[in-house]
Amino acid sequence: MKNIWHRFFMLIIFEAVAITLWLTKDNFFYLFNFSYIGLSIYLGIFLFIKKYKHARRIVQLLVGLYMLIYLGLICNENMQIEGFWYYLFTGVFEAATIHYAVAKIFGPLLFGRGWCGYACWTAMVLDFLPYKSPSQPRKKLGWIRYITFMVSLVFVASLFLAKVGNIERIMFWAFIVGNLAYYAVGIALAFAFKDNRAFCKYICPITVFLKPMSYFSVLRIKCDKDKCISCGKCKRVCPMNVDVTDNSRKRKNGTECILCMECVRNCPKDAL
Ligand code: SF4
Ligand code: SF4
Ligand code: SF4
Repeated sequence: MKNIWHRFFMLIIFEAVAITLWLTKDNFFYLFNFSYIGLSIYLGIFLFIKKYKHARRIVQLLVGLYMLIYLGLICNENMQIEGFWYYLFTGVFEAATIHYAVAKIFGPLLFGRGWCGYACWTAMVLDFLPYKSPSQPRKKLGWIRYITFMVSLVFVASLFLAKVGNIERIMFWAFIVGNLAYYAVGIALAFAFKDNRAFCKYICPITVFLKPMSYFSVLRIKCDKDKCISCGKCKRVCPMNVDVTDNSRKRKNGTECILCMECVRNCPKDAL
């Protein structure tokens, strides 16, 4: 019963969000949007249970491409952090504000940084690079994320304060330029540090929301100490340097876990 509940957990959550937003905002798009994401995640969980190696990557591509190409480029919605500030300042609970509320601010209380493991279109590309598990110790560069966070906030606030016209159009171009910059910096850092997820660890401004909220996540990987033989394999394969054998919320790099399940897949004793 527990396994069945786990299998449907995310689908139920996303369907609840889909139906609630569809009815409260009287907009069918929300039913389609969140149902699509929920079903994509369900497919990934199903494939993972069937031990299909690329289950997570399939979800990442299904959701990431949908958001980048359909929502971003075709529907002209800036779903990056600048788009969130833009809709927040206009006082509209639409598009990026809903997206951030569900995926990056309140959602992480339930599913941690699942966004980073299964949906982010930046990581979708970075995960194709060759450095899946970092070979070097983590660097003390996490402070950079607060600078990029402030730069995005100041950029959008300045447009409003200066009463610049046609901000919506600027937001569309900011989405394109911002994404190209993320990909360029992300790929360069991955090769420089031999770590696909270096951008996520040091630069990404969204982690300013994601990290504190995911600390309280309901969904998290736990270690069965009776089965664990302390072989250290889980830590070696973890792309985010999480000490997953420590069950406390204060585990080392605990708020970095992207629920990618690499540790679970590689544990020789099924202890995770
Ligand atoms: S840390 Fe940022 S770039 Fe990395 S997966 Fe999460 S949202 Fe995407
Ligand atoms: S891989 Fe499994 S057995 Fe090895 S240390 Fe991690 S949890 Fe323990
Ligand atoms: S390998 Fe395990 S601990 Fe590391 S990010 Fe993935 S799920 Fe989290």
